[in-house]
Amino acid sequence: MTPAADVDTVIVGAGSAGGVLAARLSQQPDRSVLLLEAGPDFGPEGGQQPHEVSDAADVGPTRYDWGHVAGLGELQRRSPVFAGRLVGGSSATNNVMALRGQPDDYDAWATAGNAGWSYDQMLEAFVRVENDGDFGDQNGHGASGPVSIRRYTRCELPSHQRTFLDSCAAAGNPVIADHNARAAVGAGPLPLNAVAGVRQSTALTYLAAARERSNLTVWPHATADRVLLADGRATGVQLADGQHVAARQVLLAAGAYGSPALLLRSGIGPAAHLRQLGIPIWRDVPGVGANLHDHPLLRLHFSAHGQPQSLPCQTLLTTRSDPSLTRPDLQIFPSAIAAGETGPEMSLLVALLQPRSRGRVLLTSPNPTVAPDIDVGLLTHPEDLPRLRAGLRRARQLAGTSPFAEQLVSEMWPGHELSTDQALDQAIRAQLNVYQHPVGTCRMGPATDPTAVVDPLGWVHGVDGLAVIDASIMPTIPTANTNLPTLALADHCAHHLETTPPH
Ligand SMILES: Cc1cc2nc3c(=O)[nH]c(=O)nc-3n(C[C@H](O)[C@H](O)[C@H](O)COP(=O)(O)OP(=O)(O)OC[C@H]3O[C@@H](n4cnc5c(N)ncnc54)[C@H](O)[C@@H]3O)c2cc1C
Repeated sequence: MTPAADVDTVIVGAGSAGGVLAARLSQQPDRSVLLLEAGPDFGPEGGQQPHEVSDAADVGPTRYDWGHVAGLGELQRRSPVFAGRLVGGSSATNNVMALRGQPDDYDAWATAGNAGWSYDQMLEAFVRVENDGDFGDQNGHGASGPVSIRRYTRCELPSHQRTFLDSCAAAGNPVIADHNARAAVGAGPLPLNAVAGVRQSTALTYLAAARERSNLTVWPHATADRVLLADGRATGVQLADGQHVAARQVLLAAGAYGSPALLLRSGIGPAAHLRQLGIPIWRDVPGVGANLHDHPLLRLHFSAHGQPQSLPCQTLLTTRSDPSLTRPDLQIFPSAIAAGETGPEMSLLVALLQPRSRGRVLLTSPNPTVAPDIDVGLLTHPEDLPRLRAGLRRARQLAGTSPFAEQLVSEMWPGHELSTDQALDQAIRAQLNVYQHPVGTCRMGPATDPTAVVDPLGWVHGVDGLAVIDASIMPTIPTANTNLPTLALADHCAHHLETTPPH
């Protein structure tokens, strides 16, 4: 099937960013938009899509995942890493925690030479994206965006989530009603983008509303191989089956693993690596595939009292490993209670929000059906391990604080007998993994920055008509789970693209 052979804008990847871009850009009736997606399309209602939300701590594969396996940096282990492969992308398989991050996250992007990305400017995009059922259009929130967000009320919370918040307060943490308020730090209900247990993916929100437009075509089961380039500009996309799509504008939204792989297969990347693979060099861009980072995640495990439930996580503490930090660098949150071999169990999860370690995405083959070579680079920077250890100790302190302490029976991992720095570091190394928030592999920055891949609107430096707009362009990871920031990032770029003709 060739739904459209010649379009104004082709978007590769119908995930968080791709869904926003397709919906926003097709609002212009005179712009033809083709959205290519490697995975299946379950239509506006979601069909068999795995849209039921369960325990957010239970990050795991679905049938609609790329099945990548990555190196874990200094840990000398390999592990599956996840990325949705269907219309909706990772927004259709993720765990619905809907957080914006801190003003400093975005102000730092702007200060690094990315005009337009300050928190105040991003706030406009966050407001446009959301329909916040709790705060409406008050306090910097939006009430009419496509993505519904709400929090569980105290009465709705299961007792272990309620007592977790009480113990956070007892341990001296501020209690907050809204984690998405400007510069909020403390313990409170988690904003979730789910309605009646159904994940509000871009398939069910942005695309559901847009796909009836005659100028938007969604083409599932279409894996892009590479960008077609001629005379210094992008002219279209070649699919893995050899078909060509001609376009005046090519927008890559294939995610932090997929977008750098596409650029590399197109001959845009580090020259030495392209040479090794026999890929003709279009442009030597050392930053393509570099700067991969994700939030490292630890899981303290406990035997517990209570009934197993299948619910998303509902409460969250953000805190600083060191009081001198200007923004929180740790998230701690309880999982749902699960049935274990010997009785009910639960976890306290600890994520490091500002990791310094970096990994990379490269290719092992120019063949688009061969998985990229991913290393997430965990603990490659010496500052990350002590901060994770501090997070582990902070979680333990909460587990020992009443009334949450009464919900727990005993610490199964790492085990209370481990208490020295050395013993805890060894345990962390054995268990650490990623939170599944990869970013940074096509980082944005000014043309004067030799490691920058795209400019502050996503246009690839030195190649006309080609942009990358997804989590891969974030220069540094926000202090938040990355779906809502990616939706806002795509909205922000779409806002500018709408007002300019095809590049
Ligand atoms: C298991 C899991 C749980 C998560 N939980 C949360 C959470 O609770 N809260 C949160 O905020 N964030 C969460 N995230 C992270 C968040 O979902 C991602 O940061 C966000 O979806 C990234 O958006 P993206 O547009 O960059 O990529 P994606 O949404 O992954 O979209 C990329 C799309 O491109 C397609 N694609 C890739 N290569 C090609 C190709 N060659 N040809 C055609 N199509 C291609 C993919 O199939 C996919 O549909 C989670 C992620 C995962 C995987």
